[in-house]
Amino acid sequence: MLQQTTVSAVIPYYERWIEKFPDVGSVARASPAEILKAWQGLGYYQRARNVHKAAQIICECYGGTLPADKENLRRLPGFGAYTTGAVLSIAFQKAEPIIDANVRRVFMRLLLLDGKADGRHDGVISGELKRLLPARAPGDFNQALMELGATVCRSQLPLCSQCPVRNACQAYHKGVQEIIPEPKTKKLKDIYAAIAVIRHKGRFFIQRRPLSGLLAGLWEFPGGQIQEGETSRRALERELDEELGVAIQSAVPLMNVRHFYTQFRVHLSVWLCSARPIPKSDETHRWVRSREFSDYAMPSGSVKIVERLREGRACLTGGAGCVSE
Ligand code: SF4
Repeated sequence: MLQQTTVSAVIPYYERWIEKFPDVGSVARASPAEILKAWQGLGYYQRARNVHKAAQIICECYGGTLPADKENLRRLPGFGAYTTGAVLSIAFQKAEPIIDANVRRVFMRLLLLDGKADGRHDGVISGELKRLLPARAPGDFNQALMELGATVCRSQLPLCSQCPVRNACQAYHKGVQEIIPEPKTKKLKDIYAAIAVIRHKGRFFIQRRPLSGLLAGLWEFPGGQIQEGETSRRALERELDEELGVAIQSAVPLMNVRHFYTQFRVHLSVWLCSARPIPKSDETHRWVRSREFSDYAMPSGSVKIVERLREGRACLTGGAGCVSE
């Protein structure tokens, strides 16, 4: 859970997860839908699928106990260098380094390694860490380093006056700690999409995304990207025709929703629609009541739509007064 996510964001998810899945066997026995539902909102859903697959392998091949050696751990889905190092050092007290974004930044500054924090220096950092890792409590050492990066050696405004390793820090002595590593130039792509909330006899139509690729296996309202030169309404007609083979009978603007993902920002124009013929339900398409949305794992953009639908029932008539971000 902590890959690419902060501790404070993870804690409530972790607590709910442990309550629902108290051991590896309960994770292994859960359905993919239950796993995705428990993960909903944390993002990077491939991690959830990896946890599920890894739990099944641990139960089938290792009698329900996590292997304690590097080779077997690395074969488990989702076990890259970071997770393997974390498990070996924290759970099994093995002197294995962990390089996360915080540790990478601390060592780039300590060793005066210039350039971007993109992993280019990880070989050097790993060598240095192996030299420094204590045989006793290496997990504590690794966690202390990550904490040092998160709380003291911050990416902006590092608190050098409070830093316990200041004397050994080459960037500090040269006064270049603020420009090491090179700041990221991150430009988010904007994606505009038209989304259909199709309602029929008090139920709403949702569909499941493909089982591979972005947001794989999650449920969402139908719709898609607005192409260049297209209006939102025209995109809605085209998408419903292409995806479901249905034509719009009526469509009124319902709300606008904006959501940030890691690499892009989506702007959703959401329409309340009726369509003909009525789309059919099957394994990947469902008609659900408002209270049943919580049974389906959805991407955060769709969760926002559901929350707004629940908050502003009056808006289900569409038109003036509908919610907008
Ligand atoms: S002295 Fe400053 S730059 Fe160097 S490790 Fe400590 S907080 Fe980071």
